[in-house]
Amino acid sequence: MTLAARRILIIGGGFSGMAAAIELRKLGADVDLVEIDGGWRNYGAGISLGGATLRAFRQLGILEAFLREGAASDGVKICLPHGPQVAELPTPRIAGPDVPGGGGIMRPALARILAEATRAAGTNVMLGCTFTQLQQGADGVDVTLTDGQRRRYDLVIGADGLYSKTREALFPDAPKPRYSGQAVWRAVLPRPPEVNAAIMWMGRVKPGVNPVSRDQMYLFLTEHRPGNEHVDPATFASKLRELLAEFPAPLVQQIRAQIDERSQIVFRPLEGLLVPRPWFRGRVVLIGDTVHATTPHLASGACIGIEDAIVLAEELGRAGDLAAALHAFQDRRWERCRMVVENSARLGQIEIEGGSKDEHAQLMRDSLMALAQPV
Ligand SMILES: Cc1cc2nc3c(=O)[nH]c(=O)nc-3n(C[C@H](O)[C@H](O)[C@H](O)COP(=O)(O)OP(=O)(O)OC[C@H]3O[C@@H](n4cnc5c(N)ncnc54)[C@H](O)[C@@H]3O)c2cc1C
Repeated sequence: MTLAARRILIIGGGFSGMAAAIELRKLGADVDLVEIDGGWRNYGAGISLGGATLRAFRQLGILEAFLREGAASDGVKICLPHGPQVAELPTPRIAGPDVPGGGGIMRPALARILAEATRAAGTNVMLGCTFTQLQQGADGVDVTLTDGQRRRYDLVIGADGLYSKTREALFPDAPKPRYSGQAVWRAVLPRPPEVNAAIMWMGRVKPGVNPVSRDQMYLFLTEHRPGNEHVDPATFASKLRELLAEFPAPLVQQIRAQIDERSQIVFRPLEGLLVPRPWFRGRVVLIGDTVHATTPHLASGACIGIEDAIVLAEELGRAGDLAAALHAFQDRRWERCRMVVENSARLGQIEIEGGSKDEHAQLMRDSLMALAQPV
């Protein structure tokens, strides 16, 4: 196969970078991946995934592993604060008729599945390593690494996340991440049998649960926090219990009673970023959160980063010419990623303003339908 780039460096071993390594190795490229974290860790919270993410997992060859270790289900139940279900948000079976339309998994479990696939594909993984210099020439990019090596690549892929150093080096004037006015609480708890799919309760704040394995679920709660002030981790459990007190639903109260210091609580202010096109310059291209970090309202941030990797590999395999491949990649990705970032931000805005529940539900439905389209 003619490949538009044969020697490739991926900077960042998150979901997007690992997906790129797996897909590019399938094409026979020589792939180095540098990951700054020597332990290649991922923090212990759950992650919700839609049908489009499961379709991408099928392409990567990790769907079976996900179904074994995570949890897959159809639909999202929407409930009132005191319990009654008022709607069910359909989640189309995008990955195929045999695979539910959504699911969840613990982040460390998904990271391990992807890391194993990355290594098994033959990627040269360098942990605790990053770049200090990128120098582009007509025939390649000379990269100096923190371990002192200097290597030449046909293509460098920046997949180093929201605070990307690759983006800073390539586009110093690109917009910076912006705080959205909301924060998310997450916790991991034992899964009662009645939680067999995602459930959300609509109130002033918005809690939800999603199974992440046979016996665990994760709780998430979105809260309006205009000031983005620091929260002392010692108070996480009591603050989360306080926020759930507003929900008389028996299941919420049962969950609330279980929250304590062992619940792996993670508190995170939500930031967004959409870098205008182009996402490449010369022989360096950016993917994933480096260029489109979304708030989690559509549970699709990981999805669009992994899809970037799949589409980039497809285009590099199709075109003999690198510039043509990068242009084609950009054309195929822009609208879908813009839609996810902007619609997620709008959903958050409606929640902050206490706006129309109908607009919220319609935008959610429209976005999920758009995500079902082929990439
Ligand atoms: C609170 C919250 C909840 C979310 N919930 C969901 C959800 O339910 N569903 C969903 O699909 N998405 C969700 N997302 C979004 C999702 O987590 C991200 O979109 C996704 O993790 C992006 O992956 P990435 O690989 O592009 O970037 P990252 O995950 O940020 O990975 C970047 C990697 O690069 C490494 N790195 C950083 N700097 C360097 C460097 N200089 N050199 C080398 N390596 C470097 C990092 O250590 C990391 O391993 C959520 C996000 C947040 C903030």
